[in-house]
Amino acid sequence: MKPAIDLLVRGGKVVTPRGVTRADVAVAHGKFVKVAPAIGDDAATVLEAKGKYVFPGIIDAHVHFNEPGRAEWEGLDSGAAALAAGGGTAFFDMPLNSEPPVLDAARLREKRALAEAKSMVDFGLWGGLTPRNLDQLTALRDAGAIGLKAFMSNSGIESFPHVDVRVLGEGMKRAAKLGLLVAVHAEDDALATTYTNAQKTAGRTDAAAWLASRPVEVELAAIRTATELAGETGCALHIVHVSSPEGVALVHDARERGVDVTAETCPHYLLLNDDDVARIGAAAKCAPPIRDEARRLALWEDVRDGRLQTIGSDHSPAPAELKTAPDFFAIWGGIGGVQHGAQLLLSECADTAARDFPRLAALLAANVARRFHLPAKGLIEPGKDADFCVFEIDEPREIAAEELWTRHRISPYVGRPNRVRVTDTVVRGQAVFAGGRHVNFAPSGRFLRPGK
Ligand SMILES: [Zn+2]
Repeated sequence: MKPAIDLLVRGGKVVTPRGVTRADVAVAHGKFVKVAPAIGDDAATVLEAKGKYVFPGIIDAHVHFNEPGRAEWEGLDSGAAALAAGGGTAFFDMPLNSEPPVLDAARLREKRALAEAKSMVDFGLWGGLTPRNLDQLTALRDAGAIGLKAFMSNSGIESFPHVDVRVLGEGMKRAAKLGLLVAVHAEDDALATTYTNAQKTAGRTDAAAWLASRPVEVELAAIRTATELAGETGCALHIVHVSSPEGVALVHDARERGVDVTAETCPHYLLLNDDDVARIGAAAKCAPPIRDEARRLALWEDVRDGRLQTIGSDHSPAPAELKTAPDFFAIWGGIGGVQHGAQLLLSECADTAARDFPRLAALLAANVARRFHLPAKGLIEPGKDADFCVFEIDEPREIAAEELWTRHRISPYVGRPNRVRVTDTVVRGQAVFAGGRHVNFAPSGRFLRPGK
């Protein structure tokens, strides 16, 4: 008789937001069915995890895979493969950098079909919120958008204009009625322009000038505006890539006032500081920019205190020719971090006494699933989708460009020591990555929509 268990993960240290426990994990029909100290039942396949960590599949709610339209920058296939190599089992693709951007249901369905034909992991799709498509929000919701993304400053993409206060307020009012979450890139456009012009007038074009052109104040002004609008409209708001502890504090204060708002940060704000940007150069250019060391350390405190709710990579790559220019302002912004960002956070925790893996299990998986209404995702417990990865903690090994699965082997983390070795990534019970290499490139990713 065929065993009732399809896959038994044996002897690992199972990580949940509540802690780390030594347990076996049984999977059947793509779901976790049992987590217990010793499961003796027969299984079709056994995965030995002794000495390793069994971690919930990372849900990266913030990637730009740029397909269709700019697939030469990344791709739904290469991006998904890189995510899987880093322990990820689902991504939410942003509505811009793909061309045309996802501003209506037809574009969303088009991207969905492409991802279903290319992605080895599950995926959700963001719709855009711009001055051009306020009349398309209902259709985007009906087509299954995971949420709406708006820019409060110039997005750098002409086909994706930013919102002013009036449009954002109107969009949030409509989104609230539709039950859609709105995510904002929170930088104040007027302030960013003022500070940028000051640097350019002074003739400065180096990395330090770029950082000075977008001080924390630019982020804070936008967070204040967005949280006020969320309070007025009742809209669920998600501030993406919060770069500063001051920004986290504003979100925290708004939450205390009862505003439905959450904050995402990115691995690069927790792993790099302004000196690193000067040293690494173009591969570490992003907006909001990477901050100083004191702020980096304070953000880790926000992770540990639960004041930050989620971590997303904001993976936003570009070809090498766009990442080289004498003028730092002219370099395309965006960090390639979908493969190593989360691993390096785990690696940092492995280096500390606290080994705060449970916190990271919350921010990289459980909290994301809860915020985006994916009840089947985010936790290793019976009834949930069997999405997980297995990793071990080893001696530090420098990340080599050759191990990158992204289309362009550009990452600020090349050369950085990493103690985490992801050995397996499993999506709904199916291994996509095993023994440290991809084992199944089949496009088996499923479309995720809120509530399902
Ligand atoms: Zn982004």
